[in-house]
Amino acid sequence: MNTEKRRAVIGGNWKLNGTTGDCLAFARELAEHLPEGPLPEIVLAVPYLLVAEAAEVFRDLPVSVAVQNVSVYEAGAYTGEVSARQAAAAGAQWTLVGHSERRQLFGDTDADVARRVKNALSSALRVMLCVGEPEAVRADGGQDAWVAAQLESALADFDPEELDRLAVAYEPVWAIGTGRNASPADAQAMAAHIRACLTRRFGSAGDQVPVLYGGSVTPENAGALLAGPDVDGALVGGASLKAASFAAILAAAAAP
Ligand code: PEP
Repeated sequence: MNTEKRRAVIGGNWKLNGTTGDCLAFARELAEHLPEGPLPEIVLAVPYLLVAEAAEVFRDLPVSVAVQNVSVYEAGAYTGEVSARQAAAAGAQWTLVGHSERRQLFGDTDADVARRVKNALSSALRVMLCVGEPEAVRADGGQDAWVAAQLESALADFDPEELDRLAVAYEPVWAIGTGRNASPADAQAMAAHIRACLTRRFGSAGDQVPVLYGGSVTPENAGALLAGPDVDGALVGGASLKAASFAAILAAAAAP
């Protein structure tokens, strides 16, 4: 394990929240609250329509803009879709892929997730791949096998040369938006398992992929969740909507 060199990443996910104008207010407030000293990499996943505005207002802040999904299609007669290429051209540098809300509410299959990863990479986007088990799977103790299968499928054709453009977010489905975060010990155990899967698949380069925890992260619990040696950051939903609470989580990540 080499925790020295791994990048720390804190992602925010605004989901279907925010309208034009909110990015500017958020950026101003975030600038006021940004902690001193070395910061983690900061990635904010905004709704598609806010990408161009976000790219503009975060230009002078250490914040990269992400989209929350990209199409399985590259271009063509697919009404309502947004391609990875369009997202990148609008100013996105990252995309989430495989968020559990996409998988559960919009029927994303493992095969779709793999196609989205491929399209993102071919459009020069970086990928935050979300994996995580439903509650019933954890109740049966099947979470490790579940997450290993999600990783294997999403990364089946992943080119090891692209590993520095990948982060993996472990987001147990039962912890997202519920106020019930995983325990720090469970978050660490799963992050270590994900790291082992990545190392098995990619060799030592897999060890350098940031592994994040997501699911009801707040300023209050971030320090404990981020303390695990294999937890390199967090993906934050609700608490990323307010600049002050997001900045407090950044401060927890930046703390020595
Ligand atoms: C998420 O949307 O990825 C998430 C983790 O949400 P929340 O922090 O609100 O649980």
